[in-house]
Amino acid sequence: MSLEDRVALITGAGRGIGRAIALHLAKEGAIVAVNALRSESAIRTAEEVTGAGGSALAVSGDVSSQEDVAAMIDKIVTDYGRLDILVNNAGIIQDQIMASMSEEQWERVIAVNLRSVFLCSRASVRYMLRGRWGRIINLSSVARLIGNTGQANYAAAKAGIVGFTRVFAREVGGHGITVNALAPGFIETDMTAGLSDKRRREALSRIPLGCLGTADDVAAACVFLASEAARYITGQVLTVDGGMTCT
Ligand code: NAP
Repeated sequence: MSLEDRVALITGAGRGIGRAIALHLAKEGAIVAVNALRSESAIRTAEEVTGAGGSALAVSGDVSSQEDVAAMIDKIVTDYGRLDILVNNAGIIQDQIMASMSEEQWERVIAVNLRSVFLCSRASVRYMLRGRWGRIINLSSVARLIGNTGQANYAAAKAGIVGFTRVFAREVGGHGITVNALAPGFIETDMTAGLSDKRRREALSRIPLGCLGTADDVAAACVFLASEAARYITGQVLTVDGGMTCT
């Protein structure tokens, strides 16, 4: 699935799923721009990519900020002259039952998980239109369907991403650009590390494949959607959850 010479931006790639996606895309030959909120985090992944023989650029910044997104895309296009693949992966949780949820908890989760998808996609798509080829892959979640208690903000953002994906896919389909979403289930990363043993056992009992997912499982699906093999797939949600949502 060669992605030789393609330039990819992966947001939130300092750790977890985004880091794995950066490593997998680079392994297929893509030049990867690694975003994370903290510069040390972005640099660490970029160094891992180059250490493995790939090409990488660290571009830290807050993806919910229009100024940071503009600066990040400018730097990529100045350095490489193009942008072909965007993986909108950055995401956070700030759980709280609805009756006690603060406006700050609501706004921040919507901003980092959903507004960022709009900002990064809008800023990137003009370069894909220029090249008449592009891949936009948005990280949704099984929470779009079966949000956990305390995750009204997160579930709303992840469901919003699916609506965004479908409309945007229709708008740019005629220009050789596909827009799809990935919906991971329960994946072992820092985001899920804090969950109680009880919550883990409950989740496991609902997964037909009998184990939690890894960041590499999601990255493999992302490489497929970014590749030429997925050229006729757009506006879809690819669920990577060990069967959790079919029970
Ligand atoms: P994670 O391990 O918590 O890593 C999150 C990454 O996002 C970090 O690199 C972090 O940067 C970055 N980030 C956070 N806020 C940011 C901001 N404002 N601007 C730029 N970068 C920011 O998360 P993950 O588990 O890999 O999740 C990745 C994506 O998959 C998220 O969208 C998540 O909702 C989705 N997902 C995860 C699971 C799961 O089970 N883990 C399931 C379904 C969906 P720093 O490294 O600098 O802190």
